[in-house]
Amino acid sequence: EAPADLAQPALAWRNSFAGLGPAFFTDLQPTPLPSPALVGLNAPLVQELGLDPDWLASPPGLDVLTGNRLLPGGRPLASVYSGHQFGVWAGQLGDGRAILLGEIDSPAGPRELQLKGAGRTPYSRMGDGRAVLRSSIREYLGSEAMQGLRIPTTRALAVTGSPAPVRREEVETAAVVTRVAPSFVRFGHFEHFAARDQHDHLRTLADYVIDRFYPECRGAERFAGNAYAAFLEQVSERTAAMVAQWQAVGFCHGVMNTDNMSILGLTIDYGPFQFLDGFDPGHICNHSDEQGRYAFNKQPNIAYWNLFCLGQALLPLIGEQELALAALESYKSVFPRELERLMRAKLGLATAQDADRQLIEGILQLLAKERVDYTIFWRRLSHHVAGQPADTVRDLFLDREGFDGWLSRYSQRLALEEGAGPRMLQTNPKYVLRNHLGEMAIRQAKLGDHSMVSGLLLLLQSPFAEHPDHEDLAGFPPDWASNIEISCSS
Ligand code: AMP
Ligand code: MG
Ligand code: MG
Repeated sequence: EAPADLAQPALAWRNSFAGLGPAFFTDLQPTPLPSPALVGLNAPLVQELGLDPDWLASPPGLDVLTGNRLLPGGRPLASVYSGHQFGVWAGQLGDGRAILLGEIDSPAGPRELQLKGAGRTPYSRMGDGRAVLRSSIREYLGSEAMQGLRIPTTRALAVTGSPAPVRREEVETAAVVTRVAPSFVRFGHFEHFAARDQHDHLRTLADYVIDRFYPECRGAERFAGNAYAAFLEQVSERTAAMVAQWQAVGFCHGVMNTDNMSILGLTIDYGPFQFLDGFDPGHICNHSDEQGRYAFNKQPNIAYWNLFCLGQALLPLIGEQELALAALESYKSVFPRELERLMRAKLGLATAQDADRQLIEGILQLLAKERVDYTIFWRRLSHHVAGQPADTVRDLFLDREGFDGWLSRYSQRLALEEGAGPRMLQTNPKYVLRNHLGEMAIRQAKLGDHSMVSGLLLLLQSPFAEHPDHEDLAGFPPDWASNIEISCSS
């Protein structure tokens, strides 16, 4: 059986994270997933990685995707991290159900493959090390929807289901998501070693991340050549850019704990996330978040709070508090600048005018007042600017006078622009992974029909295209959508 595996040259593992040393992880084998069956295979990502889709979908390939069989050269491990959960120091956490298989070279650069739901690890605490089919499908579709929207994210290569029972609020079945990212290092990895005063390990980790992903921080002139301060600044900027994209598209993450923040500024840890239906700035998508700490409009400040924790963790390396604070300052300029740029783009404005901010705030207020559907509004506005009558946009508002007032100011501003309509149709998506769409795909998958999972994946990977056969998936949410409860249970 070996020759078929060895015919997969791209699966020549490297294990750079393992090179950090035993303080950073525990070596362990994934727990086999009984009777694995493919739920979804992400063909475009398979291709990007230079892998063979037929082999991956075959029984030996499926065994590798789930960790049931290990190819020579891999060194599976669970990493240790800590973190602040809901604003409170939680101490040691770690990969409680994620196992890193190793790293492969792809045409796009090195990529780590990680299994989510592959069994207990030393960091599982009370958990069973498993993930259920429901949340695995949400992660698979949610992360690829973000990728389709050009928002930095971890990727999902495959979802594999199993009849093995898993107990949550009710008994569900197990699944494994095979995730892909250049690195799964989180803010919490740094907090872990800082909290233990293990400054050598802290430095080893920071040097590893800087060398691989932020080499420009070496010898940077800013911060008097302090590479760690430059690193903190870069992470702040990437995080600011990522959260600005979340706000512009209406994405609510749901659990922005510091252990769920990627050091690469990728959207990571798809749990109770939600793309907004009606525009409600204070929307709380996570039913376990009673205080609304992670409400939609709090995300920008929470990201800064999390970066502050990272800054504190890096302080022993940076040395001077002033430098750390100066590095964090970049968030406060980059976030508003990026958000304004993205909102201008949603309005089709390629040039910048001082009054644009009032236009942006004006429409957001109108949308919020009536909880107008966020995605549908922007798409209809785009079609209007591209030449269709304004009626379909106006029909979204009860306050016609308010909307018409805004529209006439916007139309005057648009007169200074060219080609806004076509640009807007490439900026404002027609398709996002609304809760009810994910829920419909999950219900069908539970009955053994995976066609909606595959169908949605295709749509979400090109969310700006019309896909005229799928108008039903671009419409308003049904009434039952508001009753879907999404919690941390996954
Ligand atoms: P999360 O809320 O997904 O960010 O998870 C927080 C922590 O709980 C992380 O250390 C996870 O690895 C761990 N965890 C979550 N669910 C499970 C589970 N079913 N089994 C083991 N560990 C888990
Ligand atoms: Mg997590
Ligand atoms: Mg999670």
